Amino acid sequence: MVRKLFVGGNWKMNGSFSHIDSFFETVKNAETDSEADIVIGVPACYLKYAQENAPKGIKIAAENCYTKPSGAFTGEISPAMIKDCGCEWVIIGHSERRHIFGESDELIGEKAKHALEEGLKTILCIGELLEEREEGKTNDVCFRQMDALAKNIPNPEAWDKVVIAYEPVWAIGTGKTATPEQAQEVHKLVRGWIRDSVDSCIADKVQILYGGSVTVENAKELGAQPDVDGFLVGGASLEPDFVTIINARK
Ligand code: PEP
Repeated sequence: MVRKLFVGGNWKMNGSFSHIDSFFETVKNAETDSEADIVIGVPACYLKYAQENAPKGIKIAAENCYTKPSGAFTGEISPAMIKDCGCEWVIIGHSERRHIFGESDELIGEKAKHALEEGLKTILCIGELLEEREEGKTNDVCFRQMDALAKNIPNPEAWDKVVIAYEPVWAIGTGKTATPEQAQEVHKLVRGWIRDSVDSCIADKVQILYGGSVTVENAKELGAQPDVDGFLVGGASLEPDFVTIINARK
């Protein structure tokens, strides 16, 4: 089954109003693949500005959200607030949320549930640490994280609002990219897990992105793998190079 290319960006805690202006100017002046889904995660304080100024075809995502609509949760933002900023997307379970901020599978599952119930589209991240890969636990970790997410997807239709990002933690921000074969192997297994544990039509349809030091140099080959439906790009999504990555299938 041919799935649409999805190119996600994740600015993490980077950017500024002037960066947004110059980055969007670059994208507006470039020819980008009109067939691709393009979604960029930006810090919460820039959501509204980025959404209002984004070039046609680019959607803006929050990089996190909480499990409740409002309340005494200092520093958090809710799906309702993300929608109020005009955005339709949120990234949940990024490895930096898991490993720097200590978010558990359970919390990430609850976040996914609430975001989907609120009607947001979600990029749900999974991926193993280096030591887990070296101990041969990659599949166990990815399946455990998938299980915590899948049981929180409120109904089968909500899967239409789910994109999975497989991001081996050892490849994020390290310059060490998974080989196309390593990425394909895990993507195929994750799709197989969804087929066996959720539904085979959902498994065929869901876009599974690879993330971890994606660059202009490696995007084409990674994107050519049958189960790699696009990328979640950190560092390179802040640079004009992102345009070339968007065009990986052109
Ligand atoms: C990310 O932040 O999700 C990511 C993959 O970062 P990088 O592309 O910089 O490795």
